[in-house]
Amino acid sequence: VSRFEGITMAPPDPILGVSEAFRADIDVKKLNLGVGAYRTEELQPYVLDVVKKAENLMLERGENKEYLPIEGLAAFNKVTAELLFGADNQVIEQQRVATVQGLSGTGSLRLAAALIERYFPGAQVLISSPTWGNHKNIFNDARVPWSEYRYYDPKTVGLDFEGMISDIKAAPEGSFVLLHGCAHNPTGIDPTPEQWEKIADVIQEKNHIPFFDVAYQGFASGSLDADASSVRLFAARGMELLVAQSYSKNLGLYAERIGAINVVCSSADAAARVKSQLKRIARPMYSNPPVHGARIVANVVGDPALFNEWKAEMEMMAGRIKNVRQKLFDSLSAKDTSGKDWSFILKQIGMFSFTGLNKAQSDNMTNKWHVYMTKDGRISLAGLSLAKCEYLADAIIDSYH
Ligand code: PLP
Repeated sequence: VSRFEGITMAPPDPILGVSEAFRADIDVKKLNLGVGAYRTEELQPYVLDVVKKAENLMLERGENKEYLPIEGLAAFNKVTAELLFGADNQVIEQQRVATVQGLSGTGSLRLAAALIERYFPGAQVLISSPTWGNHKNIFNDARVPWSEYRYYDPKTVGLDFEGMISDIKAAPEGSFVLLHGCAHNPTGIDPTPEQWEKIADVIQEKNHIPFFDVAYQGFASGSLDADASSVRLFAARGMELLVAQSYSKNLGLYAERIGAINVVCSSADAAARVKSQLKRIARPMYSNPPVHGARIVANVVGDPALFNEWKAEMEMMAGRIKNVRQKLFDSLSAKDTSGKDWSFILKQIGMFSFTGLNKAQSDNMTNKWHVYMTKDGRISLAGLSLAKCEYLADAIIDSYH
């Protein structure tokens, strides 16, 4: 008898489990719209040209594989904070940002969660309802209490701004408010600049601490600066804030696990202390981060020619998703005779569309149509081609009605 008899089978992950089920399906019509990973029009994974160029540079230089410092590659940490805040931002000039390289967005969020657990005992994190499936896992595992604020209004298929503001107001003073910097996952609905100002107002009034998750910088609008404007608006108010960054989507570095946690403090001295504690959290967990992705980012962002090429490739990727979004809307509008207004699809931004399909309808999409998606009704448009839009529209209409 096994010593592990008491261990029960864990359920499959709601997002990555979808990819497992997809791989097992032998139907040729199958479509994987579960995971948020960019595919070409031929539905193949895509390695950016700038990434290949940066890797060639690295090979030519014959770089070694020595350990990085606990906080990561210095050249990476410098450019990642500059990309986020803008190189001339006062938070950088005044050395008020503690930046530590993390294991992509997830690992960076997890470091911040550990910091909250240690230094803000009892403080809760407010997360949007709905949110990316892993947020709750991350705070649960770090033993950080969380509660939800209203975000999505099914009636308008838009932002429940009043609900959001009143829930943030009602939370205990000094809570952390987790915000998606751009391209909210799963809804694809972002606050307007005026709404961001009001969100900042209540957060300041209540002495809360904003905590941004930026997993799609450049991928939402195609512009790195426009997509960072929410974070910069808060920083410009002189607020202290946390920002987790990921290069999975915008540089297509999913498996390299490259990202960062940035903590903006009110003084350089506080930033130095925060950084020292983030390192102390990282050391017993994984000792120090991997170097490959960090060098790619440092090379691409640090070289003006490669940086411009990256921006062009990102616009290309964001553009393909916008075209697919338009085609899906056109197909649904043309085929659906029920009079339903599908324009919400065009209002959403980023990789995803939140279709409004419930769990049973999402099951129908998978079981009858071989369309793999998360059970909250989210589909990844990055995994869709123009050629498959008509088929998908048929599946959605059949499942809705
Ligand atoms: N945060 C959000 C909102 C995401 O959608 C994702 C990826 O899907 C992540 C964080 C983290 O991804 P990664 O750990 O690959 O950077």
